[in-house]
Amino acid sequence: MSMHANNPKPQTPRARIRPADLPEVRGKYITEQSLSGLTWFRVGGDADVIYLPADADDLSAFLKNLATDIPVTVLGAGSNTLARDAGVRGVVIRLGRSFADIAREGETDIRAGAGALDVRVAAMAGDAGLSGLEFFSGIPGSVGGALAMNAGAYGRETADVLVRVEAVTLDGEKRELTPDALNLGYRTNGYRDRVIYTAAVLRGLPADQNTIKTQMDEIADKRGTSQPVKSRTGGSTFKNPGGASPDGPKAWKLIDAAGCRGLRVGDAQVSDLHCNFLINHGKASAANIETLGETVRQRVLETSDIDLDWEIRRIGEVAHGA
Ligand SMILES: Cc1cc2nc3c(=O)[nH]c(=O)nc-3n(C[C@H](O)[C@H](O)[C@H](O)COP(=O)(O)OP(=O)(O)OC[C@H]3O[C@@H](n4cnc5c(N)ncnc54)[C@H](O)[C@@H]3O)c2cc1C
Repeated sequence: MSMHANNPKPQTPRARIRPADLPEVRGKYITEQSLSGLTWFRVGGDADVIYLPADADDLSAFLKNLATDIPVTVLGAGSNTLARDAGVRGVVIRLGRSFADIAREGETDIRAGAGALDVRVAAMAGDAGLSGLEFFSGIPGSVGGALAMNAGAYGRETADVLVRVEAVTLDGEKRELTPDALNLGYRTNGYRDRVIYTAAVLRGLPADQNTIKTQMDEIADKRGTSQPVKSRTGGSTFKNPGGASPDGPKAWKLIDAAGCRGLRVGDAQVSDLHCNFLINHGKASAANIETLGETVRQRVLETSDIDLDWEIRRIGEVAHGA
């Protein structure tokens, strides 16, 4: 099997997969479900099959017994993903409630299932009097998504607090990996698309609960005024070309300089508030959003000679004629 390619070009249509083509599992198969309900942009066609594993053993057995030509795509909270209009062929794996437990481990650590939301991890760390994980309170993804993207904000990133991860390889082997092995960099992960994370152990530092809460409140205030957090969006569309460096070129500045603030394609628009965010005003298709992103990339290339790299993950197939 292979992880789904992040390929913007129309692909040769492939036969739809049905649950009957898949191994027997203890988890659940769902069909005819639009990905628009599972992604923040609220766009996207159906997945052939969505698989909700019962636990890591179920996931491992599924992967061991899956025919090698069936593609798998992993989806977390869908806050960094644009699902294309013709949907996703093969199996979309989603780690749901059975992977959402968060528990304290020892004095300083928190073990969180990959399906747990980052905001809940931050809240739990705060309640436990552990600082250092406050930045998660502003990231609307899951722990699995944070590991895959090395999510970060305000000068901190997942790699800074990671002790170890539990994962299942694409051929179904359960593994524990250290941050070194993952080779995490700015919004990248050396294991990208090679494993499915099932849990992470994160480390904080004992601190006063009120100080932690104040920091989280500050983050919420900053976000509310600088990002369209209540919109249908995918977060930062492009990586900053200067990486995490505070002095490097920022994608939003380049987009602004290229005159793209507020630019529209159909019901998709470059946010007026933060121009590295694209917004679906309600009726945009995935094609509208992707075309808008590609137009922005082209204009930035023409004005600044910098080729922006998509941070948003695009999955699935372009609708015929789009
Ligand atoms: C309003 C808003 C604000 C945001 N602010 C930030 C920010 O400040 N900093 C930041 O870094 N990001 C930010 N984001 C982007 C996004 O929240 C992060 O990238 C987040 O980590 C994605 O997690 P997710 O669970 O939603 O992943 P998804 O969008 O579902 O998936 C993203 C990638 O992770 C992979 N993935 C997900 N789960 C697993 C797993 N269990 N195993 C293996 N791979 C997996 C998917 O295959 C995909 O490639 C923001 C997004 C929004 C909408």
